[in-house]
Amino acid sequence: MQDYLIRVLTTNKQLRALAVKSTDLIEKARKSHHTTPVATAALGRALSGVLMMASLVKSGEEVSLIIEGDGPIEKIVVEANQYGEVRGYVKKPVIDFVLNNHKKLDVASAVGKGQMKVIKNKLLKKSFESTVPLVSGEIGDDLTYYFSQSEQTPSAVGLGVLINKDLSVKAAGGFMVQLLPDADENTISKLEDNLGKIESVSRLIEAGKSPEELLEIVLTGFDFRVMERKDVYYRCKCNRERIAALLNAFDEKEIKEILEKEGRIEVRCHFCNQSYEFSPDDFNPENER
Ligand SMILES: [Zn+2]
Repeated sequence: MQDYLIRVLTTNKQLRALAVKSTDLIEKARKSHHTTPVATAALGRALSGVLMMASLVKSGEEVSLIIEGDGPIEKIVVEANQYGEVRGYVKKPVIDFVLNNHKKLDVASAVGKGQMKVIKNKLLKKSFESTVPLVSGEIGDDLTYYFSQSEQTPSAVGLGVLINKDLSVKAAGGFMVQLLPDADENTISKLEDNLGKIESVSRLIEAGKSPEELLEIVLTGFDFRVMERKDVYYRCKCNRERIAALLNAFDEKEIKEILEKEGRIEVRCHFCNQSYEFSPDDFNPENER
């Protein structure tokens, strides 16, 4: 089944919620970055989270999430747009397999203590930037904290990634629910009740719950309407022209030196690991048509 995301609104207009199934796109990320299980889980949670965040921004805006901690993974960078395209990488894709007390992959220790930066931008124009400290390193809780601190929107975020014995992604996804300004006490306590009953998002995802079924659990007792449903993909924006444009911004002398020494220039995209090679001919103006 193709990965997809839904955004819903309760009929009392007091809550909005999103849920995503992201198994295939996280598997694609794992394959291009050769991540080990804890890194796959950390990157996967961030990819699911940023996809949902990017479904809440203004038209044409993109959302980037940069998580930097003192744990072995060092840094997670993910970016998504409202068309359901997401990409990302971790600085250290190969880290030791660790389980926490609940026998789950210890994402919190892999990330460590540090901070999370959220950037919203339209093309090259930054429209919003905010940095919050990491409260747990589990990523879902950190996003919950970010929404309450930086966007003054009380929210709950649950993210899960399950890994097969062969290290591939078994199941992944998550949900996000937010109180809208009109939310009353009754709605808040009912929602808190529902959230309190969810023991583990991972277990729900492992049980094969679809995004709709996830939200039926999160929003038990509420009627809701699906406002948007879209397919989501792991897709990188890089291409030869974009990379060439980046090279053009470099010092001409420096480029010439590398070409003389190496005979070529190789540039590797952080997000998808694709490598682009440029020969001296590519820099020769006479070859331009
Ligand atoms: Zn790329």
